[in-house]
Amino acid sequence: MNCKLCGASISGELLIKDILVFKPITSAQICSACWNSFERITGVNVCCYCGREQADTSACADCVRWEAQTGEAVLTNRPLFKYNETMQRFMEVYKFQGDYQLRLAMRDCFSQHLRQNKRAVFVPIPMSNQHRGFNQVTALIKQQSQVVDLLELIPDTRIVPQSHKNRAERMNSEQPFKVRANLIPKIMNKNVVLIDDVYTTGRTLHHAFNLISSYTEHTVSSMTLAR
Ligand SMILES: [Zn+2]
Ligand SMILES: [Zn+2]
Repeated sequence: MNCKLCGASISGELLIKDILVFKPITSAQICSACWNSFERITGVNVCCYCGREQADTSACADCVRWEAQTGEAVLTNRPLFKYNETMQRFMEVYKFQGDYQLRLAMRDCFSQHLRQNKRAVFVPIPMSNQHRGFNQVTALIKQQSQVVDLLELIPDTRIVPQSHKNRAERMNSEQPFKVRANLIPKIMNKNVVLIDDVYTTGRTLHHAFNLISSYTEHTVSSMTLAR
């Protein structure tokens, strides 16, 4: 069996060792070297808004600029991992090549990360580039009973994947979402946690944040796999 990220062969010896240390067996799709190069964000010294790791808990330069440029409230985001090279590779294989099995490698730790929001509803960000009909974000969540598919893409919106845009294009993009009106009662009296894979400029998440905030007085925040 080969590592899905680097292609190195994963030996039986490693698999047994992984099982003995109670690593999720699903991590066997990724070799130990790749697995160990994911960097967790501990959440101690992070930007109080976007959750990026830094020296203290003040707002980072991006978030300060966001507030100044848009005049909008800034979303509070809590990411699990740094968006380093390994995470980038993971996203490439999982999201863009559509390797559905690979969701298992991250599902346990991401669901654990979400567990601090027991009473909240999880609203996944719709994907414009779905592979094989699955939403790559929803597939990372074990707590399916808390998931409310509140958002949908506005039809005929020409969605260019965020990764294909430069920063200015991303910042100026129009609201791509609308809410499914029949699902609004499901978020009433609950805090809403938006779920996305990566927080990059935060533009997409802020569109969702602004839209949903207009329907509820409760907190709307977000959690992402990476920042
Ligand atoms: Zn590897
Ligand atoms: Zn920030």
